[in-house]
Amino acid sequence: MRNEIADFKNCESIAVMGGTFDPIHYGHLVTAEAVRHRFHIDKVIFIPTGRPAHKTNKKVTHNEHRYLMTVLATMRNENFDVSRIEIDRPGLTYTIDTIEQLKQYCRPDVRLYFITGADAIHQIMTWKDSERLLSLCDFVAVTRPGYQKNELFAEIDALRKKYVSHIHYMEVPALAISSSDIRSRAERGMPIKYLLPQEVEDYIHKFGLYQKKEMDEVKFMLSVEMMQEKLQSALSVKRYIHTMGVSQEAVKLAEIYGTPADCEKAKVAGLLHDCAKDYPPNLRERFCKEYKIKTDEIMQKQPDLIHPFLGAEVAKREYQIQDEEILNAIRYHTTGRANMTLLEKIVFIADYIEPHREKFEGLEEARRLAYLDLDMAIKEILEQTIAFVKKRNRLLHPLSLEALDYYQTKNMKEEY
Ligand code: NAP
Repeated sequence: MRNEIADFKNCESIAVMGGTFDPIHYGHLVTAEAVRHRFHIDKVIFIPTGRPAHKTNKKVTHNEHRYLMTVLATMRNENFDVSRIEIDRPGLTYTIDTIEQLKQYCRPDVRLYFITGADAIHQIMTWKDSERLLSLCDFVAVTRPGYQKNELFAEIDALRKKYVSHIHYMEVPALAISSSDIRSRAERGMPIKYLLPQEVEDYIHKFGLYQKKEMDEVKFMLSVEMMQEKLQSALSVKRYIHTMGVSQEAVKLAEIYGTPADCEKAKVAGLLHDCAKDYPPNLRERFCKEYKIKTDEIMQKQPDLIHPFLGAEVAKREYQIQDEEILNAIRYHTTGRANMTLLEKIVFIADYIEPHREKFEGLEEARRLAYLDLDMAIKEILEQTIAFVKKRNRLLHPLSLEALDYYQTKNMKEEY
């Protein structure tokens, strides 16, 4: 992993490159390399911000996207590293907590630098434990060309006089590139090539980042709260907790791979995916007849395969879901099928990796793949599930075998 922070014990000096990196660009990379060279620094650790305390109202791109773009941008430089410590740390993000945490993985005499945009220096005394922070690391304030330096120098002087602080200054011509300009260009369909590494550009296009997205209106007859209330009485406590976990995980995946409308649909499909799972056998049979659900030979021999198909009908009739995409995501969440829609993939994966799942072999790998590539995650989950079903001498549904064949072939083609 690139955030193996224990590695830093070998370093005499480390610079933290803090920023939102939304997205990371050549200005950031040139800055990091220039600072590394000027101060003879062993390692520069890029730390994308988590939930900045000063920006709780500002919309930034999802943490995982910003983190992955930073990994892609820095992977060719062995003196660069990326850390997840801010995005994985719960609560609001303060630089002092990052530096304190990082210091635990460094030798006691390490020299630490914090590189950031010069504007931050003007506000630094408003940061949490700023005085201690200034004593723990040197600051390198970097500016883009044309920056009015006089006020910055006055501020640095004042800080030096008042506190134990080492604040350095560097103008970096490459910082004529800015993240906000790249976002605005991408939104207007203008080229962003040569402003950032090709891998980051490809990533932005692949996930459609920074494009204006229409918020399709998704209306449900019952509110989400009403659905939750109904589910609480229909499901066991354990199943209800699992259901909430699937809904949350599905929204997280939709935030990465989909549109705001997909997030709404993922929330509801996740909530309702097991809505018929706790029906006792007599009720299940009665509803299957009433809702004319066709059960094949495998389902009859293994009735737990019926609940997703029954669940889709229950969602339609009792929870008044009309959206066919949501109904299919419920219908195929257990067996999967070949060529699934985005929502079907999201619910299928979320059901497997949701945070309340008890640990089992292969779970972490599925979680890792889910945030890298949905199709690879599906292939992995199908392989694990099929192996598990065979081991238990249970029956496999042909839809799962077709799905496995489809995703194995698809992933193989993409590798070539
Ligand atoms: P930001 O919104 O990403 O950046 C503000 C401006 O500074 C932008 O023009 C940005 O250019 C530039 N910039 C930021 N980081 C840079 C870097 N490392 N190298 C070159 N230019 C950089 O970030 P921010 O909110 O100012 O935060 C910067 C860092 O300070 C983060 O690590 C953040 O967590 C920390 N911070 C901590 C506290 C606290 O502890 N209370 C408060 C504020 C900030 P681009 O848009 O082109 O990147």
